[in-house]
Amino acid sequence: MKVAAKVPRNQDQAERENWDDSGSGRMAHPVIEGEPDLSHGVILYLEDITVSFDGFRALNKLTLSIDVGELRCVIGPNGAGKTTMMDVITGKTRPDSGQAFFGQSMDLTKLAEAEIAHAGIGRKFQKPTIFEHHTVFENLELAMKTDKRVRRSLFARLRSEDYDRIAQTLTTIRLENEADREAGLLSHGQKQWLEIGMLLMQEPRLLLLDEPVAGMTDDETERTAELFVSLAGQHSLMVVEHDMAFVEALGSKVTVLHEGSVLAEGDLATVQADQRVIEVYLGR
Ligand code: ADP
Ligand code: MG
Repeated sequence: MKVAAKVPRNQDQAERENWDDSGSGRMAHPVIEGEPDLSHGVILYLEDITVSFDGFRALNKLTLSIDVGELRCVIGPNGAGKTTMMDVITGKTRPDSGQAFFGQSMDLTKLAEAEIAHAGIGRKFQKPTIFEHHTVFENLELAMKTDKRVRRSLFARLRSEDYDRIAQTLTTIRLENEADREAGLLSHGQKQWLEIGMLLMQEPRLLLLDEPVAGMTDDETERTAELFVSLAGQHSLMVVEHDMAFVEALGSKVTVLHEGSVLAEGDLATVQADQRVIEVYLGR
């Protein structure tokens, strides 16, 4: 039976666990209960979102929605506001104006970052934040979404359903043969997949992925596209990426951002043929 030999108590993990690190065991943030209302089939709705930095509009009346189970790709030139949009969705940046809803009625502009994560929005940053000195298996174990009572017994035996979930995730991210390997020894692409696996352990409804294939080999990029396509349906995904071969492999609806708002939307062939898109982005 696998157990985490030593539990790292760094800030990153404290953030992942969403409770304070003082040893008091108190939650750092009140955790909102309840589920997003998905009855209208929309998981994310942004309306007229504006974010200014020193007068410069990084987002300018951005309106965009994503359906439950949808895989959406967001492209656009550097500085278009893609990362800022993810910052707004995750509560890292507050919009100056506009609305952001998770499901029908969960107002993201009123929730703390930890509450948003807890409600089911998972984000993958460009740089993987895995625990390098732990095994692949332990990384997934540490990322598991459990309540406080269960987390307290981390040193206790894993429940068999948890073990099964970890095994299933290992297969999903194609690391089933690397379970006992130290995470720091994985290839760059494998580390990215492990971090995606860690997100999946938290059972997010919506996954935000910012340039997930940057630095990957062609083969890893292709496998990542397969992984995302396989996750859609079960999860909703918003993927920001520059790699056009990857975007094509995803085969999803594409949103083109430019100067903080939506310039075009549709399948890749349609937006690639759009004259305005060619001018600002693809034609360069
Ligand atoms: P993208 O991810 O599409 O490349 P970003 O969302 O990172 O674009 O940035 C959009 C614009 O907002 C850029 O011009 C960037 O310099 C600016 N910006 C982003 N974050 C900040 C910040 N914290 N302070 C000032 N300007 C920022
Ligand atoms: Mg960016």
